[in-house]
Amino acid sequence: MPAPALANPPCNSWALRSVKPPPPLDVFLTRASEAFIQVLITDPDLAELRFSIQHSRKLKDQLLTVTEEQLVTGLAVNGLHSWGNLYTELAGTLKCTVEDNEVGLAKAFNLLSSPSREIRSEAWHGVKAAWEGRAETVAVILNAINGWRLEETKQRGRQRPLHYLDKSCHQSRIDRATLDALMETTYQNRAIGQRALTAMGKVLAITPMEPWDLFAPPPVANDAPVFTFEAAIDLVANAFRQLTPEMGDFAVMMAEKGWIDAQPTPNRSTGAYCTGFSEPREPRIFMTFEGSMNNVLTLAHELGHAWHNWVMRDLPRYETYYSMTLAETASIFAETLVRDALLAQASTPEQKRAIAWEDGSAAVTFLLNIPARFTFEQKLVEARQQGFVIADVLKGMMRDSWQHWYEDSLASYDEMFWASKLHFSISQLGFYNYPYLFGYLFSLGIYAQRERYGAAFNDLYTTLLRDTGTHTAEDLVQQHLQQDIRQPAFWQASLAIVDRSVRQLEALV
Ligand SMILES: [Zn+2]
Repeated sequence: MPAPALANPPCNSWALRSVKPPPPLDVFLTRASEAFIQVLITDPDLAELRFSIQHSRKLKDQLLTVTEEQLVTGLAVNGLHSWGNLYTELAGTLKCTVEDNEVGLAKAFNLLSSPSREIRSEAWHGVKAAWEGRAETVAVILNAINGWRLEETKQRGRQRPLHYLDKSCHQSRIDRATLDALMETTYQNRAIGQRALTAMGKVLAITPMEPWDLFAPPPVANDAPVFTFEAAIDLVANAFRQLTPEMGDFAVMMAEKGWIDAQPTPNRSTGAYCTGFSEPREPRIFMTFEGSMNNVLTLAHELGHAWHNWVMRDLPRYETYYSMTLAETASIFAETLVRDALLAQASTPEQKRAIAWEDGSAAVTFLLNIPARFTFEQKLVEARQQGFVIADVLKGMMRDSWQHWYEDSLASYDEMFWASKLHFSISQLGFYNYPYLFGYLFSLGIYAQRERYGAAFNDLYTTLLRDTGTHTAEDLVQQHLQQDIRQPAFWQASLAIVDRSVRQLEALV
């Protein structure tokens, strides 16, 4: 997944595997006495449940009765989740007109990365108009999903009312203090993303940029390298070998065994993802490889996910379920290794600029777009607590949220983004946005430790990956890197890395 084209659903489908037992067992395990649980998890067959049971028990006081839990789960199938399905149905059937052709939204979305500004603008306005025609329907969907969640949280909070962000943090296996430090430090550093956007605008001779320029490709250098799939695997494997020979051999093995479906064939789906089998524990990658540098980075990204799952393949199944916040660690790490290798072998300023562009584009997405989604969702949930939120109000909230983060770096804001972006209508979980920012900065933070630990780093990194299913993010970093992610300093160090790469882009413009 190249950073800006955030996959929906996530490019690492392993992260959405359910760790929850069915309601009766879940309620039983969560309510049981501590003494009973201690005995239970000493049983070698059940020891793998230790973390997931103990983590669930942190919300012991939010449990309903078994009958109520079954009712909530049962009703949600045709209640809550139907609203998510309705959105998917709508997104799959809406059409818009671009260059006198009627196209579906997926096609229009691809046209947003056209080199022609005219086509990008037409595609963006076409998508906007299509959603405007259904604005009230999407407003009903968002009100229903968020209204359902608020009512459920209220019912669960009879003993102790829970803040909606605390609930999300529990799902993400992070502390609220960590989320606050992440968002606050990012907000203080929003100028880094804004500078990246301005620099990209200079490359394109567009100042300031408009929302339809956000996916614009960099101008292609005449000497831009075109990679064969074999050359890409070589390049990625060599970059991985900088960390450890096993990781390089793994990339080669994935290709040799045919576990990467990358040949451009007719009627392929867009996007890229990593998935896998439970038995035998083998990863698979889907993507479309056409030789661009961006394709090479996507390949590295997905191989990073595959490596994460590969190093965990001997662990008991329940110890391999990691949260969304930790799901992008290995992928972005692998992408960074390959980006550094590409930069080292780039021979002309144009080639260097093309790589720096990818960095800048990631900075804009993660430091501005993702946080704007987070701010909007907070506003939405808070407004929904007061009553139904109409489409016009949603538009205003989205404008304000973009203004809060992008400020003057964009000429205008995408006020229909609440309808066009699928993530707000995912019924399974809310706040499916900050985990991306977390993963991006978290991964860079770990990458930054390479020099400090030298030869010992690889073992440390592998152990850290293996522990992602049995630790909260705080414990993981404290235990392996002796740092506290509840403190702004950890995030500030990652942001300093982004700042350096944005400076590089600025210098090349
Ligand atoms: Zn990914």
